[in-house]
Amino acid sequence: MGRYTGPACRLCRREGMKLFLKGARCRMAKCAIETGRVAPGMHGKRPRKMTDYGVQLREKQRMRHYYGMQEGQFRLFFERALRRRGITGEALLQALETRLDNVVFRMGFAASHRAARQLVLHGHVTINGHKASVPSMKVPVNGVVAIKAMKKSQDLVRQVLEAGHVPEVASWIALDRENMKGELLRIPTRDEIAPFVNEQLVVELYSR
Ligand code: SF4
Repeated sequence: MGRYTGPACRLCRREGMKLFLKGARCRMAKCAIETGRVAPGMHGKRPRKMTDYGVQLREKQRMRHYYGMQEGQFRLFFERALRRRGITGEALLQALETRLDNVVFRMGFAASHRAARQLVLHGHVTINGHKASVPSMKVPVNGVVAIKAMKKSQDLVRQVLEAGHVPEVASWIALDRENMKGELLRIPTRDEIAPFVNEQLVVELYSR
């Protein structure tokens, strides 16, 4: 299945929570979740009784859409997390958080995950001085993510920074806003990753 290109707000309505897919609009009163829009489809208004499988599936979809990933790639991240020592759910979240597109978003260089992904794909970002145009790349500890020293790249990001539509910079990142670069200080702990999902349910779903 290809990448979802439909309305972003529809995904939030389906999951019944804000997934912050549209940048500035997500912090305004006209956000579809704030205005109480129901789930899409003709049965959207009806409260649905969900099976255990349904609950696990919804949790996985929330996490996947939040990070803007396709099913195949998300599954791959899970398989890798499964092979790591420690708690699988936490390892999965840590791998997702240290993806290049997410780090760019956390540094405040883009207003949403989608915009961060575009920024990376269009070659505006470097890691340790080298061009990095793959959104799923892992940023290493002490890796410096910077916006290319080109007028077009810097102008694009300056607009976002000046608009101030981005959330607070994560504590595991040191940001040099003036020079449009930041360093990943450490792998975030579970407490430092917003508890927007129950990752254990995702592990249970894939372990069926
Ligand atoms: Fe989701 Fe943002 Fe749309 Fe609100 S405005 S429903 S958070 S994408």
